[in-house]
Amino acid sequence: SKESGRNAFHFFTADMNARVLERLSLETSLRRALERNEFVLHFQPQVGLIGEQRDQLVGMEALVRWQHPDLGLVAPGRFIPVAEDCGLIIALGEWVLRESCRQAREWQLIREAQGLSPVPVAVNISALQFRHSGLEASVVAALADSGLPPQLLELELTESIMMQDAERALELLDRLKQRGVSLSIDDFGTGYSSLAYLKRFPIDKLKIDRTFVRDIATSADDATIAATIVNMARSLKLLVLAEGVETEAQQAFLADLGCNYMQGYLVSPPVGADHFQTTYLLPAIA
Ligand code: C2E
Ligand code: CA
Ligand code: CA
Ligand code: CA
Repeated sequence: SKESGRNAFHFFTADMNARVLERLSLETSLRRALERNEFVLHFQPQVGLIGEQRDQLVGMEALVRWQHPDLGLVAPGRFIPVAEDCGLIIALGEWVLRESCRQAREWQLIREAQGLSPVPVAVNISALQFRHSGLEASVVAALADSGLPPQLLELELTESIMMQDAERALELLDRLKQRGVSLSIDDFGTGYSSLAYLKRFPIDKLKIDRTFVRDIATSADDATIAATIVNMARSLKLLVLAEGVETEAQQAFLADLGCNYMQGYLVSPPVGADHFQTTYLLPAIA
């Protein structure tokens, strides 16, 4: 009836209002969280698969979490999309860049004192952050203020971020590259990227998305995709890292393909800075 239709409409708007309110309060909380310094970085080790670097720590990815006073540790999937929608990702992304560089520099000095080589840090860059005109200046400031050599900073971008405005992306990536930072393509294989552009972009590394790694040892299709990415990377003289490696079978398969590096629960989930330092950054003293 007409009556129930109207009720349905009211119900719908009430539900919409609830969701709008929920989002607004999440935005407000995120803003406050940034002021109160409630964000923390976790680090996930990246390890060599082949040759002399096999089983060696070759890098680390910084992954942000929200240490909420009541909710505990909140995963980035819960707040990054909202931060991206409301623009707060610019300030949050800047904090992530600064904190990653600060931590990587501190660890560089600790390892240097023990005669160990430095470990580069990989930082995720969001779509809005990449479109924002201040990105290059933020990178330069984070490096200068921390003292981290640019060679130890890697920026992770997705294919869609780079392809959205490929000509502008190419210019910006060239400038960042000239400043000495390295560039990698995150979640590779899930987006559409033109091979022609891939060749023109000053990219150092492809990160094979974990959806292709998951069934690599059991699905012929996924095995073919992974093999194709590794071979393509090699012919373009790019490094390849496999994401989401959870089993020894996956590790063995990727090593056979000639994949350079891996990252995943098989080695370690992302962990807090103290845990990372004692467990992965400093080798066990016998
Ligand atoms: P991502 O960049 O693809 O990061 C990898 C995600 O896979 C991380 O989730 C990590 O914990 C998870 N992972 C690692 N190894 C395994 C594995 O073996 N198996 C499985 N199932 N998962 C694994 P996390 O930390 O929840 O981050 C999710 C996403 O949030 C990231 O995906 C990235 O897109 C975004 N993100 C995280 N930190 C930041 C940040 O500081 N800035 C921006 N812009 N985005 C971030
Ligand atoms: Ca990433
Ligand atoms: Ca990824
Ligand atoms: Ca992802």
